[in-house]
Amino acid sequence: MAEQKDFTTSYKPTWCPGCGNFGIMPATKKAYAELGLEPHQIAMVFGIGCSSNGSNFYNLYAFHGIHGRPLPVAAGIKLANHELTVIADSGDGDAYGEGVSHFVHTTRTNVDITYLVHDNNLYSLTTGQTSPTSSTGMKTKSAPFGNLDMPFNPIAAAILNGATFVAQGFSSDIPHLTELIKKAIKHRGFSFINILQLCPTFNKLNEFPWYKERVIKLDDEAHDDSDFHKAISQATRTDGKIPLGVFYQIDKPTYGDRLEQLKDKPLVKQSLDNIDISKSLDVYK
Ligand code: SF4
Repeated sequence: MAEQKDFTTSYKPTWCPGCGNFGIMPATKKAYAELGLEPHQIAMVFGIGCSSNGSNFYNLYAFHGIHGRPLPVAAGIKLANHELTVIADSGDGDAYGEGVSHFVHTTRTNVDITYLVHDNNLYSLTTGQTSPTSSTGMKTKSAPFGNLDMPFNPIAAAILNGATFVAQGFSSDIPHLTELIKKAIKHRGFSFINILQLCPTFNKLNEFPWYKERVIKLDDEAHDDSDFHKAISQATRTDGKIPLGVFYQIDKPTYGDRLEQLKDKPLVKQSLDNIDISKSLDVYK
């Protein structure tokens, strides 16, 4: 059975000392090992961001795509071979800026993939510009007098758009994040975790002490994650507290469940011999 080290390549991460990616990557690998997965059973698709060169550091099928586009690639891989565990991995700029339309539309399809978003509230790869989750008033390289916009709320957006598993983790709480990732992978349908990530190089506002004062665990509040209204209420709290844990989880048919073509076996294992595409081509006559 594969261990955490078996998901590791010989390449060393180039992230800054203290970067939250150093918490998220081991949590993800530990989750794979504890679920009994083998490297050849997993495909990870990365967008663009500091965390996205993770494609070099995970020993499994890895694809490093273009800005904001990991979700359609991940969904395509899942439909081609639904026996694979498919994970999309982005930063907050990639997921909620360039990729926000994919986020909204993949969420409502309930395709059976997991989406991990490293949310450090900035575009850090490009040295610290305002991102969709930067707080109002936050001073950044692109907003030196303070961000004028309201921050995007990815948790509320995902729940409202029909996601069937929505959670939030923290890069500095690896055991808790590991358990969340395991639950997300085991969930049938689109599972999404917004991961609060420290960026000590550029984000001097949301540092560890700032989070320590604010994070709370939904498990400690006896939260009912099957209750839509309670999930929205937790996602839109106004008391300054930041909940960690599973906000919402329900069972619904997946996108693949609705496709007759996938009932017997994955597309990649089906023979092309009996496929007649001539009728599909009739529309071009
Ligand atoms: Fe991590 Fe920030 Fe450095 Fe990027 S810039 S590697 S997010 S600490």
